[in-house]
Amino acid sequence: MKVARFSTGGDPRFGIVDGDELVVLRGDPLFSGFDTTDERVPLDDVRLLAPVIPRSKIVCVGLNYAEHQTEMGEESRSEPLLFLKPNTAIVGPGEFIQLPPIAGPIEHEGELAVVIGKIAKSISAEDYADYVFGYTIANDVTARAVQNADGQWARAKGFDTFCPIGPVIETELDFSELEITTQVDHESRQHGNTRDMLHSIPDIIAYASNIWTLLPGDLILTGTPAGEKGFTDGQVVSVTIDGIGTLTNPARNRDRV
Ligand code: MG
Repeated sequence: MKVARFSTGGDPRFGIVDGDELVVLRGDPLFSGFDTTDERVPLDDVRLLAPVIPRSKIVCVGLNYAEHQTEMGEESRSEPLLFLKPNTAIVGPGEFIQLPPIAGPIEHEGELAVVIGKIAKSISAEDYADYVFGYTIANDVTARAVQNADGQWARAKGFDTFCPIGPVIETELDFSELEITTQVDHESRQHGNTRDMLHSIPDIIAYASNIWTLLPGDLILTGTPAGEKGFTDGQVVSVTIDGIGTLTNPARNRDRV
């Protein structure tokens, strides 16, 4: 089932994708369940929004694909490398990635993201499914020179608009072997498969939940495959994952906003 958060001009609402329509839900399915109304809205008539706004955190895994680890010149490590992005970095499908006026390249990182559905504290990997609401697509946008200069990643990965997500949340997804493709202006830049993750999704959720309590709506970005990643003002970045869809965001320099 694909869950969308959308607007027709008023407050955000939620719906279930049914062909080219949305079946409108009462309330937020993360907290209210899938309580459907009689209302249907054509997908063409809505603006899709970021499918969730994390209340507390976006947990990200760095270097979770061997080829990406190699291209970054990093050694393999036995435990996941985690960092956080602020929820103010979230934007939805079609929204601009705003490029701050800083030196060095801005890069895309197309990633599969887990949406947490239930409070998770110190859980074990085999129980992970009880705590997952669904899966969406994320772009872990990164100011690479800033990342290298700062020695930690809060600024480089935390600028406003540096975490596009969407277009929907898929609640039933076999994530064991999914193609992840990132394009810039329809040119393929990254192409990977979730089977090549170094740390599995159940292991990552369990590991993260032993550090922080995970709350409903929190996101876990599971890492990006290798590939050339720079993009600039006026270009359009699209991340496609089998079974979920395509997340597309144009980029523009912030001084034009
Ligand atoms: Mg990343």
